[in-house]
Amino acid sequence: MYHFPFRIDGTAGQARATTLSLLRGEVKTPLFMPVGTQGAVRAVSPLHLEQTGAQIVLANTYHLSQRPGAELVAKHGGLHGFMKVEAPILTDSGGFQVFSLEKTVDEDGVHFRYEVDGKPTFLSPERSMELQEQLGSDIAMAFDECLAFGTDRAYTEEAMARTHRWEARSKAAHTRPDQSLFGIVQGGFWPDLRKASAEAVAEIGFDGYAIGGLSVGEGHQKMIEVIEATTPHMPTDRPRYLMGVGRPLDLVEAVARGVDMFDCVIQTRHARSGVMYTTPGRIRITDRRFRNDMYAPDTACDCYTCKNFTRAYLHHLFRVGEILGATLASIHNIHWTQAFMGKMRQSILDGTFEEFRAQVHQAYPEGAPSDPEGVLTSDADSPSPPNRPRQQDARPRKQDARARPPKPARKKR
Ligand SMILES: [Zn+2]
Repeated sequence: MYHFPFRIDGTAGQARATTLSLLRGEVKTPLFMPVGTQGAVRAVSPLHLEQTGAQIVLANTYHLSQRPGAELVAKHGGLHGFMKVEAPILTDSGGFQVFSLEKTVDEDGVHFRYEVDGKPTFLSPERSMELQEQLGSDIAMAFDECLAFGTDRAYTEEAMARTHRWEARSKAAHTRPDQSLFGIVQGGFWPDLRKASAEAVAEIGFDGYAIGGLSVGEGHQKMIEVIEATTPHMPTDRPRYLMGVGRPLDLVEAVARGVDMFDCVIQTRHARSGVMYTTPGRIRITDRRFRNDMYAPDTACDCYTCKNFTRAYLHHLFRVGEILGATLASIHNIHWTQAFMGKMRQSILDGTFEEFRAQVHQAYPEGAPSDPEGVLTSDADSPSPPNRPRQQDARPRKQDARARPPKPARKKR
């Protein structure tokens, strides 16, 4: 287990700006990790991924261990050689995927059938460590049991205790000296169980600590309550990672309660449906109103997509079903989220975090649809962002950045 140096650069209340010195380079938090489930961040080349500023990329142990198999990845020198990603990579333990399948759980581990071909498969703490070591990620995750929302207290307690035993076994089985290992706090939706779990996992001792079992359909308020019941009992001298969370409001509210790291598929999943994040709020590029829109998707964004293409072009790509639309929207959404986290970090260091937080509440209020289907089936247009020009103001887009439309006044953060 590689104990990387970790320092806190600044705080604002419980919010923290920190630096992790991983073997492949320093990373700054709060940070967002795009997800490369099948060994690729969907529709985005490694070259463009690097340009988004993503500091760590997440890959999926469960899927990659089935196809193409961890041995083949190891032959490439691990995921870095296989995916050609230079940035640090974090692998999940497989627990989250497995627990959505039909399975048999016993003290040893989990028996299930692989969802693609029905092949009987067994996953345990020891097997998960072996696979993650073969995959060669920079950060591996302990094997845990993730429960569905609504699981009763009796089973939650039983599963939590087993998870703690599995995490101790994960640590004992872990051998790779250049790979860090994070523990995971469970405990369902009971504050006392979350506290007990945070303390038990800290007692085992890991390089970082994750909050698992959230973003399973509980909603924003419930999620916040659980985070609030958990982070005060987590070690302060190690990073804290909230798994599977990525909506702007969730990000800022979790950071406000002391979380440092996040991952989520929502940015790329939304992108493939034409939903794009912008500074004033989310837009759906497939809306008719963007048909002749000559401005960049977000005029305040300097990603590859926004520097080169108009909303009208992206609208066109989606309309004709051209896959480049998904690529360009994904590049933007990942880059936008990186910039969002960077601004949040700066606001913590500047002492303006509360202003930043208030702006996020305004642009991404609670109750906004959280699933892409909801967004897409909604007939109502999303509110027009203030930097969108009126038709009569629209003018042809020039390549020269100096000819770009004036950026909306941005408050100093
Ligand atoms: Zn952009």
